[in-house]
Amino acid sequence: MSEQVINSGLTFDHSYAEQLNGFYVPCLGDKAPQPQLVKLNRELATSLGFDLENLSDHDIAALLSGGIALENGNPISQVYAGHQFGGFSPQLGDGRALLLGEVIDVNGQRTDIHLKGSGRTQFSRGGDGKAGIGPVLREYLLGEAMHALNVPTTRALAAVTTGEQIMRDGLVPGAVLARVASSHIRFGTFQFFSARGETDQVKLLADYAIARHYPALKNTDDCYLGLLREVGHAQAALVANWMQLGFVHGVMNTDNMTISGETIDYGPCAFIDGYDPDAVFSSIDLQGRYAFSNQGGIAQWNLARFAECLLPLIADDSDEAVKLASEVVNGFSDDYQSRWLAGMSKKLGLTSNQAQDSQLINDLLDLMASNKVDFTQLFRALADAVLGDNSKANALFNDPSVFEQWQATWQERLLADEVSQQQRAKAMNKVNPIYIPRNHLVEQALKAAENNGDYGPFEQLLAVLERPFKQRAGLDQYALGAPADFGRYKTFCGT
Ligand code: AMP
Ligand code: MG
Repeated sequence: MSEQVINSGLTFDHSYAEQLNGFYVPCLGDKAPQPQLVKLNRELATSLGFDLENLSDHDIAALLSGGIALENGNPISQVYAGHQFGGFSPQLGDGRALLLGEVIDVNGQRTDIHLKGSGRTQFSRGGDGKAGIGPVLREYLLGEAMHALNVPTTRALAAVTTGEQIMRDGLVPGAVLARVASSHIRFGTFQFFSARGETDQVKLLADYAIARHYPALKNTDDCYLGLLREVGHAQAALVANWMQLGFVHGVMNTDNMTISGETIDYGPCAFIDGYDPDAVFSSIDLQGRYAFSNQGGIAQWNLARFAECLLPLIADDSDEAVKLASEVVNGFSDDYQSRWLAGMSKKLGLTSNQAQDSQLINDLLDLMASNKVDFTQLFRALADAVLGDNSKANALFNDPSVFEQWQATWQERLLADEVSQQQRAKAMNKVNPIYIPRNHLVEQALKAAENNGDYGPFEQLLAVLERPFKQRAGLDQYALGAPADFGRYKTFCGT
C-alpha cells in the first residue's frame, strides 16, 4: 500500500477531540496488509461527503481499515467506564475502535465516523483489537435492518477485510466495520469521570452533550436536569421500539447506552422468533439480566446510573439533587409504559386510547407466549385478519380457537375507532414488518462469508432487510421462522 494520503472528499471536524481534552487518546489503526472492500453503503457514504467518483474501492478499503493517514484526520480512541452486568468497571474505553472524526452530513447533522476492529489501543486490556468478518457483517446487517425499521441506531458505512487471519474459534478473516453515529457519548463516558470525582470533566461533557444533542436546553436554568430528562425520553422511546419488534439487545451495559438514544453495539443481540418474554440469546447472560421483558427496567436502572453522574451539577445541595433526579428517574416508568402502549396499539391497528387497550395487548402476548407463536409473523398476519382473512394468524396456533376468542374482543374494540379496514390494515403493515433479520438467515449469511468468502447471501439478505415493510414476490423464505433443527440460538460479546 502506498504511503500517500488519500483524499476522501470528507471535511472532518474534531469537536470531541478539540473540546474534550482528557476524554481520549490519539491513536492510529493497524495497517491492514491487504484491505479489501466487502461492502460500502454508497448512499450513506455520499450523504457524508465521500467523493465516490474519485475514490477507488481500494482507496476506500485502505481509508476505512484504519491504518492510513487521512487528510485532516485526527483519529482517537475514546475512554469510558461502565456497569457490565451490574458490576462497575472503572476503565473500559475503545479497545478496538477509532473515531476518525466528525462530518456534517447533507442534513446538517454532525456524525461520527468510527471504525471497529482497527487494532489495539491503550484500552485494549487483554484483547487483540481486532474483529472477525462474521461479527462485522452481523453488525452491518442488524444496524441497517434497525434503521430500515425506523429504530434510532448507529449505521453501517462499510465492511472491509484486512487480509489478516485472526484467532477466534480457529482462524477467521479479520475485518473492520466502519459505522456512523450521531455521537459515541455513552452513559459510561460520564461514569468514567464521575467515578474519579472529576466533576469539572463531567460538566464539560454534559455541556458538550447538551450542545450536540439537546441544544434547546442550552441557557435553561436546570439544563442538567433537563439533560437527564431528555436522555430518559430518548431511552424510553428506544427500548419501547425494541419491544415492539421483538428485539433483544443482549448487553445493555451502561457503556452500550448512548446519550443520543441510538442503539449501539450489535454483539449478542437477536430478534425473537417464537415469542418468549424471557428470551435471552447472549452466551454469558446466565441470569437473564438482559432478557427481552427486562429491557425497560434495565433502561431505567441504567438511567439511574447516569443520574448519579449528574447529581453534583443538578443542585449544590445533595439531598435536593437526589430528590430532583429521582423524580426524573422514577418518571421513566410511566414514560416508557405510555410509549410502549402507543406503539403496541398501532401494531393492533388502534387509533385511539381506551382504558382496556393495555389488557388487550397483554392478553395477546400471553397467548403468543404460551403457544410460542412467531412474534413477527403474528403481528404481520393481523392486517390480513382485519381484512377478513384469518388463515395466516390461525395457522400460527395449534388451537386457533384461542386466537379467535381474543380476536372477538379485539374486533369489538376496533369498532370504537372510525377508520376503514383498508386504511387500518395499511397503517398496520407500516409498523408490523414482514422481513426482520431472522437468526438462521443471519447465521447462514455470516457462515458463507466466513467459511467460503461468499458474500452473496449477505448481499441478498441486506437487500431484503432494507425494505422490511413491503412484501415482495419471491422472498417468502425470508419471512419464515427458524427451521425446527435450528435449535437454541446463542450470540456472543466482544467478537
Ligand atoms: P462490547 O461487548 O463490544 O461492548 O465491548 C466491551 C469492551 O471490550 C469495549 O471496551 C471494547 O472496546 C472491548 N473489546 C471488545 N472486543 C475487543 C477486542 N477484540 N480487543 C480489544 N478490546 C475489545
Ligand atoms: Mg460496547
